[in-house]
Amino acid sequence: MTITTAATAAYVLAALFFIRALAGLSRHESARLGNAYGMLGMAVALVATVALTLDDGIDPPAFAMLVAAVAVGALIGLNRARAVEMTAMPELIALLHSFVGLAAVLVGWSGYLHVEHHPEGTEATALAREGMLGIHSAEVFIGVFIGAVTFTGSVVAYGKLSGRLKSAPLMLPGKNVLNLAGLAGFAALTVAFVVEPRPWLLVAVTALALALGWHLVASIGGGDMPVVVSMLNSYSGWAAAASGFLLGNDLLIIVGALVGSSGAYLSAIMCKAMNRSFLSVIAGGFGLEAPTGPGDGQGEHQEITAVEAAEALAAASSVIITPGYGMAVAQAQYPVAELTARLRERGVQVRFGIHPVAGRLPGHMNVLLAEAKVPYDLVLEMDEINDDFAATDVVLVIGANDIVNPAAAEDPTSPIAGMPVLEVWNSERVIVFKRSMATGYAGVQNPLFFRDNTRMLFGDAKERVTDILEALKHLAPATGKTLTGTRS
Ligand code: NDP
Repeated sequence: MTITTAATAAYVLAALFFIRALAGLSRHESARLGNAYGMLGMAVALVATVALTLDDGIDPPAFAMLVAAVAVGALIGLNRARAVEMTAMPELIALLHSFVGLAAVLVGWSGYLHVEHHPEGTEATALAREGMLGIHSAEVFIGVFIGAVTFTGSVVAYGKLSGRLKSAPLMLPGKNVLNLAGLAGFAALTVAFVVEPRPWLLVAVTALALALGWHLVASIGGGDMPVVVSMLNSYSGWAAAASGFLLGNDLLIIVGALVGSSGAYLSAIMCKAMNRSFLSVIAGGFGLEAPTGPGDGQGEHQEITAVEAAEALAAASSVIITPGYGMAVAQAQYPVAELTARLRERGVQVRFGIHPVAGRLPGHMNVLLAEAKVPYDLVLEMDEINDDFAATDVVLVIGANDIVNPAAAEDPTSPIAGMPVLEVWNSERVIVFKRSMATGYAGVQNPLFFRDNTRMLFGDAKERVTDILEALKHLAPATGKTLTGTRS
């Protein structure tokens, strides 16, 4: 068996591992196994690619450069992955997407320099003989375009997610016309490049795509960022697939298509969860800063102490916890898991309600709760639990804001109107854990905080949950499980 045949077989095997990885990652219970399949697939792919490269007779200096690049990249990657905080994961992923985009741009340019730039060279003449030169030029152009859009789009997403750039949308006049003109310009340039591959056309499409990627993501407001993150994930997949065509690497095409289509599918799920159409996200302006003052004319908020919160919990029969980004920031999942265990020991029914865009990454809350060993069967999706709030004694909103905002359901003028939310206000009593009256990611004030049945428990979520745990130790288990509430 030649090395080429063995490598092809290895690529098929790796592709199967990647498909198993995606299937595994779709459920909590199998996510760990899914990750293991992914790592195995990547290891097989790497070994096969190195073997193929050696078989092609690569010269020693080039091979040394390859090894050095892989070693440096692996070191930086290991270091970053080890140091990254769970809350900074989304911005790290955005940054990694930008690398995929940049790689696709470089692969495209290298393809051009090897082939179109040397029309008399062996590769160009071979392709011309087969009538494939035009196809090659189109691959170069499309790869560079998708890669450059992904690159700047991901850099802007990184800036917004990490708070380095404002999350409010950039509202240039005629922004949709600008985007459409960008796409039309790309189509025209592609035709011109396929007809005659002049270098300035490639420079022009690179500049156009860099500007378009930047504008596309800069125009999207905070509330829609979840869709943007998964959309860029999808783009990075298509960029990788485009590079696969250029490099003649089947595995890269398969993996790029898997990432591209699963990212697109995730974007569709996210849009559905936020009651938005994909086009309206792109054309959006959702997440505009709402004019908000501390109380925004909503009345007074009422506070509660940790001891009073512990008493309310001890007297409750049913409790739902709705975690959000603040739980991740505070790393409060461990005391929250312990609180869950203590309350269950006291006979309180405790469940979690997870909004699809809670936190800063799809699945963010599920990962944190799984990390803290909260049993999976207590963790329910928004649709599964939304009708149960009315029959719930106490809801603990731990570091969440936008995802429990009644304005989304009740105020058609709200910038987040129409986004489905966890209807926590229907319960007997709501206790909100946060540090101040500040708005959430979408920059929208939350009327929940001013309702009669809501109490604010200010401070770091981890400290406040720990205080409640301490207070619970001094409370005897309740005999009767009734709670008088003041629902508005
Ligand atoms: P929000 O950002 O709306 O609210 C988080 C709240 O946590 C804030 O109001 C903050 O209030 C509080 N908080 C922060 N730190 C702490 C702390 N240490 N202790 C206690 N509270 C704290 O988050 P949600 O999860 O409710 O909503 C997610 C938002 O993020 C949505 O707008 C969503 O669209 C967006 N998003 C989601 C992504 C995803 O894929 N899931 C990706 C990108 C954006 P305070 O400062 O007063 O403490």
